[in-house]
Amino acid sequence: KMAKVFNFGAGPAKLPEEVYEIIKNELTNFENSGISLLETSHRTATYMNLNVEIQEVVRRLLDVPANYKVIFLAGGGLGEFAAVPLNLISRTGTADYVVTGAWSAKAAKEAKKYGKVNLVLPPTDRYVDIPDQSTWNLDPNASYVHICTNETIHGVEFDFIPDTKGVPLVADMSSNIMSKKVDVSKFGVIYAGAQKNIGTSGVALVIVREDLLNQALPICPSLLDWTANFKANSIQNTPPMFAIYIMGRVLQWIERQGGLDEMASRATKKASLIYNIIEESNGFYYAPVAKNVRSKMNIPFRIGSPGNEALEKEFLKGAEALGLIQLKGHRDVGGIRASTYNAVTLEEVEALADYMKDFYKKHA
Ligand code: PMP
Repeated sequence: KMAKVFNFGAGPAKLPEEVYEIIKNELTNFENSGISLLETSHRTATYMNLNVEIQEVVRRLLDVPANYKVIFLAGGGLGEFAAVPLNLISRTGTADYVVTGAWSAKAAKEAKKYGKVNLVLPPTDRYVDIPDQSTWNLDPNASYVHICTNETIHGVEFDFIPDTKGVPLVADMSSNIMSKKVDVSKFGVIYAGAQKNIGTSGVALVIVREDLLNQALPICPSLLDWTANFKANSIQNTPPMFAIYIMGRVLQWIERQGGLDEMASRATKKASLIYNIIEESNGFYYAPVAKNVRSKMNIPFRIGSPGNEALEKEFLKGAEALGLIQLKGHRDVGGIRASTYNAVTLEEVEALADYMKDFYKKHA
């Protein structure tokens, strides 16, 4: 077995080593209760306290204004793709979707089941940039405008917050939440599946401005109803407690590391290291995404001439042999993808950078 592996997977992604130590220590006897959290009722003071503690760390890290609710919901990102229209589209029956990659495309498709969807950008299947906002076809009558701030597959990350002229802005931040400070007050709703930057799968973190509650469609399942979940303090039913707990421990780790400014500065260093090697390789490595919207979390790139995947296969094989794993690009786009979330250390990214330089020397 390999001594150490370097996990560049897109999600479920690497968790901080320190968090594993904490989970191990707490696994069978949670906070001196004598039992594991895995066998604790969600109605106990133990869980209620944990639930509140995690809401508070979310609030501190993102500086969440008082008029926003923090809720934890089962169903991950896909659950929220349905929850967003179910909770918000009733006002006008129509919603704007800014499709900048595979995930926002999927969100738009899901929303169509519950109302009218206006595509703000001309349809494409080549997601490599974000057109200037002056060209956007925004509908002033939309109930909300949906964006995905970081496209995990295509590696397209917003470098600005759109001005939606008062229409509530809803953001899927699944793959870049807690990687930098965000002005929450610019958004109506922020949601994120936890399994990339802040934990493991099974839970979505949802931050909702309170005036957007109480307008769910009558068909909205209770499970996805933000208002019902908020009123029940995220324990309407048995929540994914262990996933929520892990999210809490990861968020506390982020706080101990220095918070979101520290995460942002690390992310910039890590991503620049890889993008610089790509830029300096005279086209040997190729990053398809426009520079201003290149993701600091998911770095997709190609090697060699289009259509010839032999070098990419060799790259991945050589990487695996060194313990650099889960670098294969998503099946929809191919190529290589390095995910450099919060828990991935600069050292680990340096190991990848060294390998990329060696591979280039060998083959260029
Ligand atoms: N949105 C984004 C940006 C994602 O990356 C993903 C998962 N990769 C999802 C939504 C869907 O999340 P889940 O698998 O938790 O349903």
